[in-house]
This record gives sequence, C-alpha cells and structure tokens, in this order.
Amino acid sequence: MHIFHNAEELTKALCPDIPVLLHRPHAARRAARYFLDQFPGKSLYAVKANPAPELLQLLWDEGVTHYDVASIEEVRLVRALLPDAVICFMHPIKSKQMIAEAYNDHSVRIFSLDTIEELEKIQQATDRANDLTLCIRIKVASEFAEISLASKFGIEVDESISLLQRSRQVAEQLGICFHVGSQAMTPLAYVNALERVRSAIVEASVTIDIVNVGGGFPSIYPDMEPPSLNHYFSAIDRTFEDLPISYSAELWCEPGRALSAEYNSLIVKVEQRRGSDLYINDGAYGTLFDAAHIGWRFPVRLIGCDTKSGIEYSFYGPTCDDMDHMAGPFILPENIKSGDYIEIGMIGAYGSAMRTKFNGYAAIEGHIVSDEPMDSLYSGENLDRSDRENILSFPGA
Ligand SMILES: *Cc1c(COP(=O)(O)O)cnc(C)c1O
Repeated sequence: MHIFHNAEELTKALCPDIPVLLHRPHAARRAARYFLDQFPGKSLYAVKANPAPELLQLLWDEGVTHYDVASIEEVRLVRALLPDAVICFMHPIKSKQMIAEAYNDHSVRIFSLDTIEELEKIQQATDRANDLTLCIRIKVASEFAEISLASKFGIEVDESISLLQRSRQVAEQLGICFHVGSQAMTPLAYVNALERVRSAIVEASVTIDIVNVGGGFPSIYPDMEPPSLNHYFSAIDRTFEDLPISYSAELWCEPGRALSAEYNSLIVKVEQRRGSDLYINDGAYGTLFDAAHIGWRFPVRLIGCDTKSGIEYSFYGPTCDDMDHMAGPFILPENIKSGDYIEIGMIGAYGSAMRTKFNGYAAIEGHIVSDEPMDSLYSGENLDRSDRENILSFPGA
C-alpha cells in the first residue's frame, strides 16, 4: 500500500468520497515502547479500545505479550492472530460456555470475577482446574475519570473478604484488579484505588500474587490535558511498593486508550454547511460515537489550512437520525465550505471500534500515514510536564 505523508497529500491524490481512517503505526509503537520501558510492571493491552488486527500485531511485535479481552469473540480474535499471546479474560460476568471454550480451546488461564457465583461457574466450566489465575475485581471510585466505570462491576472491599479467601483456595495465582474509569485525569485516582486494595488484602489476610491497576491512563484532547504519564507511573510504583505483599508479587496495568488513541485519525468530508453546522460523512453511528454520545471533543483541522483559530462549529453525521449530532464545539476556519476535508485527531481509542452499519454508512477506507498525530503524550514537552494540575508529590521523593 502506498504510504502517504499526511492527510493533505492523501486527499489531493484520492479525493475520497467516504471517510478515511489514517493509521500511524509509528505512534502506536512509540506508545507501546513507553509503557514497556517505563511502567514499573507488566503492561497488558485492553483489546476493546481498538481491536484492529494490524494494531494487535504491531503491539505484539513491539513486545506486548498479554492481552485483556472481555468476550469470546475477542478471545478468538487474539488467539487466531497471536498464537503465543497470554490472554486474560477480564470481564467479571461470563457464560459457562465462554469460559469453557476459552480454557479448553484457547488456553486462557487468567480470569477476573467479582462474585462467588462467578467463582463457582469458573470452577465448573474448567472442571475444577488447578492452574487458574483469578483476579478479584474490587469497586473503586471514578471521581477523577472522564468516563465512569464505577457502578457496573466490582465488589465492595468489605464484601470481598470471603471471595478473596475462597478464590485463594482454588487459584494457582490470586490477583486483585480494578478500573478507575477511562481518561483518569490525575495519578491520585490510582493511589486512592490502591488504598482500597490495601484494605482488602489486610482484611482478608491472603497472599496476593498480582495487583492489576487496570486501564484509565489518559490521552490528550482539547481541554483534557493530563499530567505526563511518568507521574502516574511513579505514584503507582510507590503506592504498590508500600502494600502488604511479597517481593515476588507482580504489578500489572491494562491500558486501552493510552496505547491506541494516537494510532488513528479520521478524514471526513463536508457535504454541506448550514451556518455553523457542518454535515459530514461520518458520525455517531460510525467513528464519532464518543463525540456524539458523551460530547467528547477531539482535535480537528481543516486539511490544507494551517490556521488554528476560527469559529465554533458542530457536526451532523450522515444518517437520518437527530442523534447523529456532535455538538463540539469544534474550532475551524470561518470560510469552510462543502467539499472541504477535515481531519479529526486522536481517534484510535474507541473510534473505529464503535462503528456500526446503521443506515448504510459503514464504508470506510484505511491508509497509513507517516506524519505525527495531532498531539502526543509520548514526545516533546508532554513527556515530562510538571506544570499541569493534579500532579501528586510524595514527601522526600
Ligand atoms: C475498558 C477496560 C480497560 C481499558 O480502559 P482504558 O480506559 O481504555 O485504558 C482495561 N481493563 C478493563 C477491565 C476494561 O474494561
């Protein structure tokens, strides 16, 4: 496939009539290398953020060996593509058939759970296997995250004692996991969650082999500029080191967004302008689900134009549905008109993963480009910024 330098070169050459997903393998590699080199433990990839086979393959090539999946389809996908990958089935509610297939046909040994009922199900489905790694998901707050994951899964610490003790009796390895919510804007989210892990370990007095701090590591978007990831890693490292666990206990994380956000951007075409509403050819049922449904503001630029200033626009997607609306505001030049192309950045996480076929607008093209993503947490100043809010400092650090 021809590799274009950037969106401008591509739109000049192809004048695409359907949306184009731009892939930046170099950006995903850089993110993976950063986690593998800097996170003070093992980094898993949370497949749901972006299950594109090329992305899974390049993360594997870069050294990511463990994959966090949440469905049997994701188990099959990863196993077919990466025969030697370690697959971690981290959805706390699974059917017996899914567990059995994962265990018997795809050599999955790592499962998460948050109830006694699920523990019994896992035991039955694996014929009381003695080689399981069981990760107990505890409930933690989502107060520092842009997207909450606090209400659906996880057991309260004071209810987790018997689950931890019973799981300890049947598991080869016992872990505790949590998820602080997606796009966590401060390292404090992890420190507070790890304090709950401490309470659980102390109250249950069980030996813990794995502490899994989950996903939630941020990317960078307009008005959502987090501290650098090194501040998250050092806060996690210090709090983990201080837990009542053995020296051999492992620290894991399972980022989705942080490893995939910079991998893609999107080119859309303006089909019509009505005042400050732009009717574009992708939307709420396509790559822009989060822009529509939770008002996520992705960075945008008019292709072929360097001005950063402009006026506020909102977007309508191509389907006939009123909900196909992305309020933004998105800042673009005043003179924008139908036929123009817009690049929407940082769409690699929860972008193409969300596409549906609704109303017949599923078609999309994919191309590799070699330029930089619109922003990056893994280059330049963003690598070590201490001037942003919510940096956590430890006395004597
Ligand atoms: C979604 C999810 C992740 C990834 O979360 P990000 O916020 O994208 O990093 C990790 N672990 C579990 C269990 C998840 O459900």
